Amino acid sequence: MKLEGLHHITMITGDAHKNVAFYADLLGLRLVKKTVNFDQPEAYHLYFGDESGAPGSILTWFEFAGAARGRAGLGMVHTLQLGVPSAASIDFWEQRLRDGGYSSTRGERGSLRFADYDGLGLELVVADDGNPPLQATHPDVPAEHAITGLEGARAYSTFAKVEESLLTDVLGFSYLGDGEYRLDGEQRHFHWAFDQAQQVGEQGAGTVHHIAWASQDDDHLEWQARVREAGGFVTDVRDRDYFNAIYFREPRGILFEIATLSPGFAVDEDLQTLGEALRLPKQHEHLRDHLEQSLVPIVNPRAERREQVAGEVSA
Ligand code: ZN
Repeated sequence: MKLEGLHHITMITGDAHKNVAFYADLLGLRLVKKTVNFDQPEAYHLYFGDESGAPGSILTWFEFAGAARGRAGLGMVHTLQLGVPSAASIDFWEQRLRDGGYSSTRGERGSLRFADYDGLGLELVVADDGNPPLQATHPDVPAEHAITGLEGARAYSTFAKVEESLLTDVLGFSYLGDGEYRLDGEQRHFHWAFDQAQQVGEQGAGTVHHIAWASQDDDHLEWQARVREAGGFVTDVRDRDYFNAIYFREPRGILFEIATLSPGFAVDEDLQTLGEALRLPKQHEHLRDHLEQSLVPIVNPRAERREQVAGEVSA
């Protein structure tokens, strides 16, 4: 039994419009699902990813409108690493970010570091390590430079360089030394690392809420049993409509989720119009009229572009 790498990473934002402008318009990801937080339906839950919304490409945000900026600290993820095809892509993104008003710096092995509008730490790395590319199409981002999915993430911890046995013995990560781990699935892998920190963080806009690992559907209950047997408190299985999920805190304090690969984001929308209509879970469908009034309307850039093209054709 193996985890299939990353499923998704979920953050908090204070502004859904800026969220769509940054991740869909500037970074060129596809907004693949527009729904609400299942536990707090007054808040948006927006999902971005590749064309089909494949696990491994998914970044999601809970919007708490006007939320104050948080700060990554102990037991929190502080940087997300997104893959791009080549070193030339790094140059492309450096320029595109600059044109969009975002400064960046070069990191290790020529990576590109920057922060989003909420201060979330991002790093573009050349994905030359075998992950099949998971890309979205965008009119201003050539396919040769488009983001290829998530390659890794880094978190803060005390005792960062001490091997964490829950990761290795229970979840099947390999320890590479110096606080660095690698999770190998059948198709995809993911780099995970702890960095030393003393400072306590603060959950808020621009911080990571949780990170979800992908499980084969048939293995999901066994993962739950395994975490429980290791002495962890793990939730019951939650039906998230697009996958089933269990949650637990790993020993360094980071909220982990294990999510099933099925049924996926095309279960309640056509692939063509993914992420365009407001989708509500069954239990909150009765709130639709109210939520359509109270949530700030968000137009998926895909729908906007299609209307523009249709307008040009008919004009
Ligand atoms: Zn999640």
